[in-house]
Amino acid sequence: MKTTVRKRVHLTWVTAVTPVVDHAVTDDGFAAGLAAGDGVYVGICGVRFVPASLISEPGAVCSRCKVVLTPVPGSRAKRRSRVAGRG
Ligand SMILES: [Zn+2]
Repeated sequence: MKTTVRKRVHLTWVTAVTPVVDHAVTDDGFAAGLAAGDGVYVGICGVRFVPASLISEPGAVCSRCKVVLTPVPGSRAKRRSRVAGRG
């Protein structure tokens, strides 16, 4: 018997100080960054970065995060990735 557990992942786009790029951060990653207290977040692309001020202009979308969010052709996640992703 195959059991599948679905977990909805919520993302927040966070602008990095340098280079000025927007990375997708999961809610769990966001909470971990806050809890660590060092002001560093990890994007879904794996990059550790320092977020820019909230009043900063958004940067370009991280190409590596975008690849992670790109659905595999024929996958059931296709529709969901369009909702979660940017650009
Ligand atoms: Zn990224």
